[in-house]
Amino acid sequence: MLPVRIGVVGAGVVGLCTAVNVQQLLPHAWVTIIADNFSEETTSDGAGGLFRPTAEFIKGVPPDTIKQWTRDSAEYFMKIAASADAGKFGVFPMSGYHLLNREVNPEYKSLVYSFRQLTPEELQKLGTTYSNGYAITTLIVEPRKYMAFLMTEFRKNGGQSQKRTLHSLEELVGQFDVVVNCSGMRSRWLVNDPLVYPVRGQIIKINAPWIKSFIYTDDDAYIIPRGEDVVLGGVRHTNDFSTEIREQDKQGILDRCARLIPSVKKAEIVKDWAGLRPHRDPVRLETENMKFKSGDLQVVHNYGHGGNGIALSWGVGVHASKLVKDYLAKSRPMSRL
Ligand SMILES: Cc1cc2nc3c(=O)[nH]c(=O)nc-3n(C[C@H](O)[C@H](O)[C@H](O)COP(=O)(O)OP(=O)(O)OC[C@H]3O[C@@H](n4cnc5c(N)ncnc54)[C@H](O)[C@@H]3O)c2cc1C
Repeated sequence: MLPVRIGVVGAGVVGLCTAVNVQQLLPHAWVTIIADNFSEETTSDGAGGLFRPTAEFIKGVPPDTIKQWTRDSAEYFMKIAASADAGKFGVFPMSGYHLLNREVNPEYKSLVYSFRQLTPEELQKLGTTYSNGYAITTLIVEPRKYMAFLMTEFRKNGGQSQKRTLHSLEELVGQFDVVVNCSGMRSRWLVNDPLVYPVRGQIIKINAPWIKSFIYTDDDAYIIPRGEDVVLGGVRHTNDFSTEIREQDKQGILDRCARLIPSVKKAEIVKDWAGLRPHRDPVRLETENMKFKSGDLQVVHNYGHGGNGIALSWGVGVHASKLVKDYLAKSRPMSRL
């Protein structure tokens, strides 16, 4: 009997994590990634990559499911961060402050290395007007390096890839036993899902090696130092489909971030970038038997992770791969999985 054939649509962080998880769970399967954009061309590549398990942004998903996704991701990232290759894979601990005017989800505490509420004196010393804040040691997951690492893992495990644009999943009927749809924002058109909508973001990458800790606020201002740059953000424009750089947004980001750390204003700007967070309430992680003229296609959808795609990437990949295995165990019980 031929090995089972799994197609993964999408080579963003969600597609790569899903593909590697499928390989780990089904070592005899043939896994192929189909995508028209890889690595630097994806939305995932542009993300800041601060691990913030702030699950309150994810509407409509049962709390226990979100906890599982974030816990699986945190454990995986911490394992990489503790390895000798942490720098190469772009996953490492990072300390800083989350400043806001409310309490954060208490789950946060158990998913990061350390987490402590700031005292009023400490808030005052930081010169902030926020009424609350936390000193946190969490993780940075630099998307470009992390995705390169995932792609290497995928290829090492025998994975194949096809660079092509799909106009419908019907094009995959008969080619795969199961297809996992990780097409992010473009699921809106690929599977006609109007519940997926963009929340446009814009960031500035600067060269500021003197900034060693992150500051994240709930008011569209964040500063995230990484291996080779510092990311300044951001904006959240709901239902805005433009990925053009806007000068007005850029100035706003610089002004807000300079209120947190004035020296960012004088730093060299390395890159401006805008992208669309693929929001969906709820995230779609479920199976569907899609019926087309040319036949049926068993699909596991895994898209719509909004502003949390990097943070949740490994956990949702674990979940999606289990759905693939469950389906195959029922439909092809005699196969070597
Ligand atoms: C400014 C900004 C900052 C962010 N910061 C963070 C952060 O700090 N932490 C965090 O967790 N998240 C962050 N995010 C969110 C994160 O970037 C997304 O949630 C994540 O990238 C979604 O990944 P994805 O794999 O689903 O989609 P994508 O990265 O968009 O990948 C989609 C893939 O599907 C393929 N595809 C789609 N349609 C087709 C088709 N028809 N045919 C062939 N291929 C197709 C594409 O080619 C691509 O390979 C940020 C986002 C933005 C915009």
